[in-house]
Amino acid sequence: MTSTFDRHPSPPPTSASVPADGVETFESLDPATGDLVGVHPVAGPEDVALAVERARDAAAWWGNLTFDERAEHLLTWRSVITRRIAQLSELSHRETGKPIPDAQLEIALAIDHVAWAAKHAKKVLGPQRVASGLVMANQKSTVEYKPLGVVGVIGPWNYPVFTPMGSIAYALAAGNTVVFKPSEYTPGVGVWLAETFAEVVGGIPVLQAITGLGATGAALCTSGVDKLAFTGSTATGKKVMAACAERLTPVVIEAGGKDSLIVDEDANIAKAAEAALWGGMSNAGQTCIGTERVYVHEKVFDAFVAEITEQAKGLRAGTDAGAKIGPITMPSQVDVIRGHVQDALDRGATAVVGGADAVGERFVQPTILTHVPETSTAITEETFGPTLAINPVRDMDEAVRLTNAGKYGLAGAVFSKRHGVEIARRIRSGMTSVNGIITFAGVPGLPFGGVGESGFGRIHGPDGLKEFTYAKAITRQRYAPPLNLTSFKRTVKDEKGLNLIVTLLHGGKKTLKP
Ligand code: NAD
Repeated sequence: MTSTFDRHPSPPPTSASVPADGVETFESLDPATGDLVGVHPVAGPEDVALAVERARDAAAWWGNLTFDERAEHLLTWRSVITRRIAQLSELSHRETGKPIPDAQLEIALAIDHVAWAAKHAKKVLGPQRVASGLVMANQKSTVEYKPLGVVGVIGPWNYPVFTPMGSIAYALAAGNTVVFKPSEYTPGVGVWLAETFAEVVGGIPVLQAITGLGATGAALCTSGVDKLAFTGSTATGKKVMAACAERLTPVVIEAGGKDSLIVDEDANIAKAAEAALWGGMSNAGQTCIGTERVYVHEKVFDAFVAEITEQAKGLRAGTDAGAKIGPITMPSQVDVIRGHVQDALDRGATAVVGGADAVGERFVQPTILTHVPETSTAITEETFGPTLAINPVRDMDEAVRLTNAGKYGLAGAVFSKRHGVEIARRIRSGMTSVNGIITFAGVPGLPFGGVGESGFGRIHGPDGLKEFTYAKAITRQRYAPPLNLTSFKRTVKDEKGLNLIVTLLHGGKKTLKP
């Protein structure tokens, strides 16, 4: 590859996957067995600063490529990931514990996003004509979206490819370089992504991975990056925002959720139960947009519970080929899950599948609770385990009210033959799928993000591209203005002309509503 990048004739490695002697390190472990998967360096503030400096140099090259040139690199990377999907799936499986087919599904969706961002950046972000209006009719107006420079991305472990890619691919396609701090539970996946991108751009540090614990992420927040895209828990999101405030660094916060799935009386019960089971149990329930609550119309409540109980038979967590659910990736989460299940049971909930005994040391077996008090932590807090809390509701008004009562507002689902979209519109969340589960995440053109304690800002789609840019407005005078308004040479005739135009445009009575 030839490039105009000449400030680092021998670019430094994009990530240090083999720590040098004396470097502080941490281990990534297989959550199913505790086996060692990899050893990675802990990047300190100086390492982070160096990575950001390199990224800034690389931005001078990457940011000045044309959209088409960047798209070519990104599409090559997309092909590399696709052709090595087995390798990346295996690594993700080892670091997260998720079954390999689930890792492949996640990566496939991420690949689609890389392609979409690459192919659409020019149209969404390139110069666009804007009508100048009558008063400024002599101007040609355009808007275009410029890269910010260096974007810091901090990622979680639950979808170590798909979630950070929503920021990485869109920030890169918009012309930024990226310094990525993967979760300490999935550092290998982060390093893999940076190394494969480096292959595509001849080693230029356009995408770098810096590994470490929370302190490394904190250093990235205050490193002077031009934007920080964070995906993780709400608690950490608040710390990230506070740290970024120090340098007025703008942030995208993709945080936790407590999504509900609503089942109306006219819903296809079998399909709704199948979706709720997947939404609640897949990836061992460790999904930000996973289903944690289910509100079912009372007329179909018993039928729904019977159906989901039946469908849950045989579904189990383990490591053998028949187990469709993996371990809990983060050991400390097991206590949270146990606490939520116990709290619900103590307050009178019924376990129709699993229960307190289902929570083991590394694995949690599917647990379905019904009649869970709305005040219990299984309803109010993010559980992040293979559990569902199913409650009956009088009508859809109550379902919407209870759904919207929580502090989160990430996503959700509605099952209804006649009123699905209508109900979806009333849910205070960033995304809702009707008669399907998390389908919006697979549509690259749709924005992804939440409200309330689920965060703000959007990845994916045109909004996701614009998130990593600033808008640049330009007006160019095409001919001398008929009215000379912005000059001390302004005449009374100019002033009268303006009054006439404004009255003609805006003075009509019809704009006054009685
Ligand atoms: P986490 O908040 O513990 O960690 C996320 C990242 O932040 C990690 O890389 C971690 O090292 C880093 N970090 C920790 N302390 C930091 C600090 N003080 N400053 C900067 N960075 C710091 O979250 P997690 O356990 O990795 O991920 C699970 C959470 O992520 C869940 O709450 C889930 O809902 C959420 N999530 C949200 C989305 C979304 O798109 N909204 C997607 C996936 C996961």
